[in-house]
Amino acid sequence: MNKPATKDTVIPIKQEGMYRKEPKIYPREAKGRFARLRKLAVWVLLGLFYVACWLQWDGQQAVLFDLPARKFHIFGLTLWPQDFIYLTGLLIVAGLSLFFFTALAGRLWCGFACPQTVWTEVFLMMEQWVEGDRNKRIKLDKAPWTARKIWKKSLKQFLWITFALWTGFTFVGYFTPVLELGPKILALDTGPWETFWVFFYGLATYGNAGFLREQVCKYMCPYARFQSAMFDKDTLIISYDEDRGEPRGKRKKNADLEALNLGSCVDCTLCVQVCPTGIDIRDGLQYECIACAACIDVCDEVMDKMNYPRGLIRYTTEHAVHGEPTKVVRPRTLIYATLLTLVTIALVVSVFNRTPLRMEVLRDRNALYRVVDPATVENVYTLKIVNMEDVDRNYTVSVEGPEGLRIDGDSTVEMKAGAAEAFVLRLRAPTELGTGRRDIRVSLETEGPDAISVHRDSTFFLPFN
Ligand code: SF4
Ligand code: SF4
Repeated sequence: MNKPATKDTVIPIKQEGMYRKEPKIYPREAKGRFARLRKLAVWVLLGLFYVACWLQWDGQQAVLFDLPARKFHIFGLTLWPQDFIYLTGLLIVAGLSLFFFTALAGRLWCGFACPQTVWTEVFLMMEQWVEGDRNKRIKLDKAPWTARKIWKKSLKQFLWITFALWTGFTFVGYFTPVLELGPKILALDTGPWETFWVFFYGLATYGNAGFLREQVCKYMCPYARFQSAMFDKDTLIISYDEDRGEPRGKRKKNADLEALNLGSCVDCTLCVQVCPTGIDIRDGLQYECIACAACIDVCDEVMDKMNYPRGLIRYTTEHAVHGEPTKVVRPRTLIYATLLTLVTIALVVSVFNRTPLRMEVLRDRNALYRVVDPATVENVYTLKIVNMEDVDRNYTVSVEGPEGLRIDGDSTVEMKAGAAEAFVLRLRAPTELGTGRRDIRVSLETEGPDAISVHRDSTFFLPFN
């Protein structure tokens, strides 16, 4: 029989918080070829982001997403909502590139090009510049709040907040002409949405790169979760050579490894100290690894000092680790590469052959036809025309169809740059054509060496019996 629970038999359940507290990571600065490559990526990518909105092209901002006017200006090319298909194509190219490069080279994107990585790198640079290297930062955080600590922490926050707000300003500068946005901000005259987005984007940059850092990669980024589906045994990964490194242990330089029964790993833990996600690569491949290659740089430095060959931690593949050949060309890389090439070519060709003129031909819904006189029948249409160029244009309307079909009235149309307008088109034909319906084609074209034209098919109705 079960005894009733008494005070002595009840086992207290330990109350855990809803979230595990993450220890703060203090990444040590790594120096080496991959660190240089990462810094280059930071300068190039962030340089593009901060500079591109200031460039001018044909008297207007080179890259401007003008949402109120529903036009995207990209280096002389103006895209309209009707060009949404190109954005779709661009997203497909981006997706296929991610699949292809991940299958080939692993998390190259995460380690060198992801905005989270590049902005975190800049925030870390500022932190190191103000507070010093890893050991100094740990010591400063443990130290009591003295005037020196308050000064250092305040200076870091000032740099972070200024940089984050500048990032928010730059972001909004792609949607509101940046040359107008600056004076507006100085005069405190920005609209509610501009103000919101400057602060929101600034706050997101500050929060993600200043505080959340590796937690974004570990817990928030969906790519970290599904990228393993694109990996196979021939994908480039960063790996610790366990056969060569173990047994790990301390030793003197030039010590006899065989006599000591030691591998190449001196157990200095520098590879853990430089890791921005705080993992130990010697435990094997982990989803937290963003492939930044900092552990390769620092371990190579240790190997150089010990006079051991480099590459205890290195870029390799699972096949290579087990002494098998690596295949770069394999079905999945071939499929991704073929799709990527085809979609990219199709996108480039369609953008370069894009006609910056749109026309719709809508029949008058009130009357199929009107008998003007015993010899003439008339149909009425609405022409909806969009001049998608940044210059004013004159167009000529023409029509092809049954014998005797003609335009009644003016066949020329004048349109301002970037205008969308509707015009009435009256077509007349002789009643002797008989009865029923006839296929027609309406054309709109410009004159001159850069002439463009569009054609639309429609129907002309003759009187019914
Ligand atoms: S840096 Fe190299 S030698 Fe040092 S602990 Fe890591 S793997 Fe071992
Ligand atoms: S394990 Fe190495 S490559 Fe992976 S995130 Fe850490 S330092 Fe970067």
